[in-house]
Amino acid sequence: MRGNLIIISAPSGTGKTTILKRLFTLVKGVTFSVSHTTRSPRSGEQHGVDYYFVDQQTFLGMRTGNEFLEWAEVHGNYYGTSRAEVNRHLARGLDVLLDIDVQGARQVRQTAGGDCFSIFIAPPSWEELTLRLTGRGTDSPETIRLRLDNAIKEMQDAGLYDYLIVNDTVDQAVDTLRSIIIAQRCRARRNSDGLPLLLPDCEHRPL
Ligand code: ADP
Ligand code: 5GP
Repeated sequence: MRGNLIIISAPSGTGKTTILKRLFTLVKGVTFSVSHTTRSPRSGEQHGVDYYFVDQQTFLGMRTGNEFLEWAEVHGNYYGTSRAEVNRHLARGLDVLLDIDVQGARQVRQTAGGDCFSIFIAPPSWEELTLRLTGRGTDSPETIRLRLDNAIKEMQDAGLYDYLIVNDTVDQAVDTLRSIIIAQRCRARRNSDGLPLLLPDCEHRPL
């Protein structure tokens, strides 16, 4: 039984990475599609774990070869989801989380249609988003300004998503995300770990 394709988008700095890291410790049968990007690695980020860090020529070659399920230019860099990687995980019955921006989400919705569902994570306020981007300490003031400008545009797409989570506290946001994933699994007749549900054979039970 193929897994679910789950799109997750959020303006940069909302807390998506924090939430997903916690989710993976709590929910079985779910994995993350490692994207390709032309952005430089941040301190601590590893090739093949956080992203496949590639140069522009490699990225454009993959794009021409139709190797991406979706791709987009975000904050001045290219990002793309490998079609082969996603299919490999889905075929193993795993739910695959796509941490992608709103442009990529539009593309996947168009391609996958009813075979995916989407979740938008929003910050509780603009002030808090600014504080989180600054407090993370990974981006220059110029990059932070660019990301805040983009956040205004990205928030306009929130209504296109199946679910909305406001990341007020990490605990509550993770709990909600986990509940959504489990509810979707029930729609596909799977248990909370993502395994197929077998109904008891009632035919031979005496009335
Ligand atoms: P994103 O992946 O969405 O860009 P991060 O997960 O890197 O965001 O989070 C940005 C910053 O905000 C980090 O310093 C993180 O520790 C902090 N953060 C995340 N969620 C919360 C929250 N609910 N309350 C306060 N700080 C948070
Ligand atoms: P960051 O550079 O902070 O890791 O990510 C910046 C933005 O790029 C985030 O909104 C993230 O969701 C998005 N992103 C990451 N990987 C992909 C991808 O493969 N495709 C698209 N369209 N966006 C991505």
